[in-house]
Amino acid sequence: MTTQTNTMTPLHAPRKLKLATVSLAGCFGCHMSFLDIDERLLQLLELVEFDRSPLTDIKTVGRCDIGLIEGGLCNTENVQVLREFRAQCKTLVAVGACAINGGLPAQRNNLDLGVILHSAYAERNGLSKGSAIPNDPELPMMLNQVHPIHEVVHVDYFLPGCPPSADAFWTFLNDLMAGRTPHLGHGLMHYD
Ligand code: SF4
Repeated sequence: MTTQTNTMTPLHAPRKLKLATVSLAGCFGCHMSFLDIDERLLQLLELVEFDRSPLTDIKTVGRCDIGLIEGGLCNTENVQVLREFRAQCKTLVAVGACAINGGLPAQRNNLDLGVILHSAYAERNGLSKGSAIPNDPELPMMLNQVHPIHEVVHVDYFLPGCPPSADAFWTFLNDLMAGRTPHLGHGLMHYD
């Protein structure tokens, strides 16, 4: 699961670690599981300060110690955000099946993207008259296939699961913050 020696600041360092999270092509289930650490979130907040995250609504990522990435890459904006996280985060973690192998969104990979869009927006029963494939220039371009994040940037650690359990998040982050190589024992490491 681990790919490099950890050089994180020790647990009792004077400054708080900066932590950023993002959901790319994911369902936010990994974030919800993260929040399931419940009251331990208060302990975490004594050690870390959140930067960009759905939890803070900060829109751009600053210099961070840890970046947690939920979701794979299904459009050009996902790729751009991922590259920004990689550039800003000392340690980047692929969280959950979608970030690690594309997950459920990657089930479209054996189908033609044009056929999928046409089927969803032009052919499906119940569509309103004049329905068409969205083409507003502000919308990010979809990629032909959904990709796991390690195909685009270097990933330091992988936290598997769909989603990883709250206890897995807690153990993983505590190891990381303490300067240890994260190790999920029996019962915490799973791929479903
Ligand atoms: Fe949702 Fe599972 Fe993907 Fe996490 S890994 S974003 S829970 S589908």
